[in-house]
Amino acid sequence: MNEKVVLITGAGRGIGAAIAEKLASNGYHLILNYLTSEKETKLLQKRLEEIYAIKAICIQADISKEEDVQNMVAIALQAFEKIDVLVNNAGIAIDTLYENKTVDNFRKTLDVNLIGTFLVSKYVGDHMYEKKKGTIINIASTNGIDEYFPMCLDYDASKAGVISLTHNLSLQYAPYIRVNAIAPGWVATENEMRELDQEYITLEQEKIYLKRFGKPSEIANVVSFLASEDASFVNNAIIRVDGGQR
Ligand code: NAD
Repeated sequence: MNEKVVLITGAGRGIGAAIAEKLASNGYHLILNYLTSEKETKLLQKRLEEIYAIKAICIQADISKEEDVQNMVAIALQAFEKIDVLVNNAGIAIDTLYENKTVDNFRKTLDVNLIGTFLVSKYVGDHMYEKKKGTIINIASTNGIDEYFPMCLDYDASKAGVISLTHNLSLQYAPYIRVNAIAPGWVATENEMRELDQEYITLEQEKIYLKRFGKPSEIANVVSFLASEDASFVNNAIIRVDGGQR
């Protein structure tokens, strides 16, 4: 088959769903991973197949569990025979006051955001390397670079880890696989906005040069570029998409 195939983790909602929509509009076939949001993911699958005449499948898997990841990649390859693009988007944040932060919180966050990204990259990356073709895009965060919030210090550490992983994977899979990361700043996803009050939103928006949060589609546009041949010499890059932040 000549058409490109993308696997997106945590694709049922938020930034993941926007990435699925953008790549479907580019003609990609989709492998939509979800953990719990089966209904939303299947609705998304049906909608995108109808609008863009592409093929999509949904696979339930917890990316922090090696067996789940192995099964997911096996099912995906059985369905499409190849994966051209991997978008490691799934992630969690457990926001709690520093005083209440537990080892369990910390481990859970690292398990999903860092170990999960490693596991999916490893199983898909090894397949890509064998085919000598493919690209991996990790969704990190400006929290992994220079934005610090003690109430999510575990999240910040996990995203710094994803950035380090990006550098190592681009070295490991050279010269065939490009590996890049996007570091979004504030993005107004439904889940994110539900947890913030207006006073806090205004305060945070003041720190952004564009005076607003980003839209999920604005992250998806950068994924679309990185996945494309237009980005054929972009490798080992960490791209901030934060509207200018200080
Ligand atoms: P979201 O919570 O709306 O979506 C995350 C998705 O990941 C959900 O569908 C969730 O079910 C899935 N997921 C969680 N744990 C999983 C697991 N173990 N296995 C498989 N799937 C799992 O979040 P979002 O705002 O759309 O964020 C998407 C990515 O972008 C995350 O990695 C997040 O850290 C990153 N990010 C978001 C923002 C923001 O402001 N929204 C900023 C910077 C980075």
